[in-house]
Amino acid sequence: MTELILKPGKERSLYRRHPWIFEGSVARLNGRAKPGDTVDVLDADGRVLARAAWSPKSQIRARIWSFDSQTIIDDAFFKRRVADAVARRQAMPQLAGQEGMRLIHGESDGLPGVIADRYGDTICLQLTAAGPDKWRKAIVGALVKATGVARIYERSDSDVRGLEGLEPVTGWVHGEAPDTALSIDENGVRLGVDVVGGHKTGFYLDQRDNRLLTRDLAAGKAVLNCFCYTGGFSLQALAGGAASTLSIDSSGPALVGARANLAMNPQLDASRAEWLEADVFEALRVFRKEGRRFDLIVLDPPKFAPSAAHAERAARAYKDINLLGFRLLNPGGYLMTYSCSGGIGLELFQKIVAGAAVDAGRDARILRRLAAGPDHPIALHFPEGEYLKGLLVQAD
Ligand code: SAH
Repeated sequence: MTELILKPGKERSLYRRHPWIFEGSVARLNGRAKPGDTVDVLDADGRVLARAAWSPKSQIRARIWSFDSQTIIDDAFFKRRVADAVARRQAMPQLAGQEGMRLIHGESDGLPGVIADRYGDTICLQLTAAGPDKWRKAIVGALVKATGVARIYERSDSDVRGLEGLEPVTGWVHGEAPDTALSIDENGVRLGVDVVGGHKTGFYLDQRDNRLLTRDLAAGKAVLNCFCYTGGFSLQALAGGAASTLSIDSSGPALVGARANLAMNPQLDASRAEWLEADVFEALRVFRKEGRRFDLIVLDPPKFAPSAAHAERAARAYKDINLLGFRLLNPGGYLMTYSCSGGIGLELFQKIVAGAAVDAGRDARILRRLAAGPDHPIALHFPEGEYLKGLLVQAD
């Protein structure tokens, strides 16, 4: 097998079981490898440490499949890893009865570059690296075997594929397009999922538990849901008895989806819901001038900092919306504020929110730290997996 030889000292991250090998750690390749081929990883003294997928165009030059140098990377390997990931979720009482759940969360499930989200009898699969791109058939077969789903849609069109030198790939890879629109029940609320045209794999499963928390807090409250996408937080707030929900997104199609979602839930009082197509930064400034106030504000913006390099500009954007959020909050009101930027850690995010509160002249307390649900686990050896972080804050 082709050998990837590490530079002296660059084996250290492998002893911590971190699955990425960066361009700067590679001394040379003994033999040839095409993108996605399996290579043996050797330290400078010639010890075999792992087996990995070679990705010649990426700064992450290889992603480790196994730290056992004897593991054969073949169809059976993917069958085992996929089955294990699915079985772990099936065994989690917190996920019992959920129609929507992430079945494979990349590195944290031992499958770097693989995302699989289940929506009822449909899976949306996203492959973001050269390794899984080569093993597509094996991964699809393993998912069908482990779950028995009727269909799988591949949605490998994320920007990060470009960094791997991979073209976008989309389409049905198992079964056919369903006759009826896809939707899931999420804790008593029905939500549409557009795997073909929606964001990411069609829906933001990672906020499931936090949407439920919103429901628990919403009774009698005036709720402002910023960056609402298809309205998940708003619908749960209505389910919790919110007095009103005002939901903002800059995407027209997202709001069409949101209205359709509300219509699918006749148990909710639609007269309490208002939708606004606008830029959140502008809308919140207008509300401030108008003197509008809310009791519960959700801020769930898109990724302002895809990597640490964007952290400074992103920090200003987070500060800006959180400052506006605090200014619009009634005394005793709750702010649920999130960052899904990998480049902004929890500590920095908390500092930004604290700075926003000071500038708004508000004292506030953290009631709870928030994160993605248990179907988005974070492997201890892969802290990068912790992309979503949030705070539930109550202001005086
Ligand atoms: N809270 C949502 C997910 C939010 S994703 C849920 O639970 O499903 C982020 C959303 O922010 C996207 O829908 C995107 O269209 C929207 N968005 C991005 N920039 C925006 C801006 N400046 N103003 C308003 N919405 C924006």
